Amino acid sequence: MKKLSIILPCYNEEETLPDTLPKLQTILNQLKGQKKISPDSFLLCVDDGSSDKTWQTIDKFHSKYSNVFGVKFSRNYGHQNALIAGLSVAEKSADLMITIDADLQDDESTIPLMVEKSQNADIVYGVRNNRDTDSAFKKVTADGFYWTMTHLGVDMIPNSADFRLMSKRAVHQFLKYDERNMFIRGVVPLVGFKHDEVLYARKERQAGETKYPLSKMIRFALDGITSFSIAPIRIIMNVGVMIALVSILLLIYSLVQHFLGNTTTGWSSLITSIWFLGGIQLIAISVIGEYIGKIFTEVKHRPRYTIEQNQITESNGK
Ligand code: UDP
Ligand code: MG
Repeated sequence: MKKLSIILPCYNEEETLPDTLPKLQTILNQLKGQKKISPDSFLLCVDDGSSDKTWQTIDKFHSKYSNVFGVKFSRNYGHQNALIAGLSVAEKSADLMITIDADLQDDESTIPLMVEKSQNADIVYGVRNNRDTDSAFKKVTADGFYWTMTHLGVDMIPNSADFRLMSKRAVHQFLKYDERNMFIRGVVPLVGFKHDEVLYARKERQAGETKYPLSKMIRFALDGITSFSIAPIRIIMNVGVMIALVSILLLIYSLVQHFLGNTTTGWSSLITSIWFLGGIQLIAISVIGEYIGKIFTEVKHRPRYTIEQNQITESNGK
């Protein structure tokens, strides 16, 4: 029987955890009862430097249940890093790992099906077939994002977020991707292996509020694009070439006009082109800067997170 670990990134989730953890326990107990997973399967909460009572809540569950563990970051390192830490801690003992958001917006009742499908696949993606609970704005931006990514040649599973199951060997391979700006959804498909999907409808957040405001969402999308593709640089190159061609045509036109004796006043056209070109150049520089910035953070190779406390290793030591 395989040992399953369910990993939850938690940032200020004191309101959701008291509801989430018992729900997941029930699912684990069912699966254990049906002998689908080993009895020592466990829940792993990664506290991403919460400022509320998230850690105390995890600790309370840890003292009450022998299969709930917490890992505490020394500060907030972000959702993606919390997932990476959870996977690398769990991978040492678990055979199957499921990552799911602590607010259970992803449907936890599909977990048994995921486990079932893992018999024939190393990665089982949770795929949303319904986004009714998301705002129209979020739907449009998400669709636009997945469209852009697939058209840039990034092999992503559309509408899959960070709710997925991975086998030990898939996680092991995944953790070899050592980039600092890790865009997990894009990297997991690169690992290969056989994969499968389970469909679910995304629910409303049960309590607390989203930790992904618009500014973070934009950052996340830009990171996704620039970590996987240099298409933006190609686009600005094409725009540059087009503008150069147009300006040559304009030059010929004004020379012809000059020899025909038509003097042009043209202050407006001059000032518009100066501003237009200035704008294009600034955009171009900033796009290149974005990539240089990426290289800068990768080269420094700073640790992705710092673990202050790890209840799994503590309890092994006991
Ligand atoms: N999260 C995290 N660190 C952060 C922000 C979010 O670990 O800096 C966790 C959060 O606790 C939740 C998950 O990531 O479990 C997804 O966040 P949220 O539900 O706020 O995002 P949304 O579902 O609104 O996109
Ligand atoms: Mg959420």
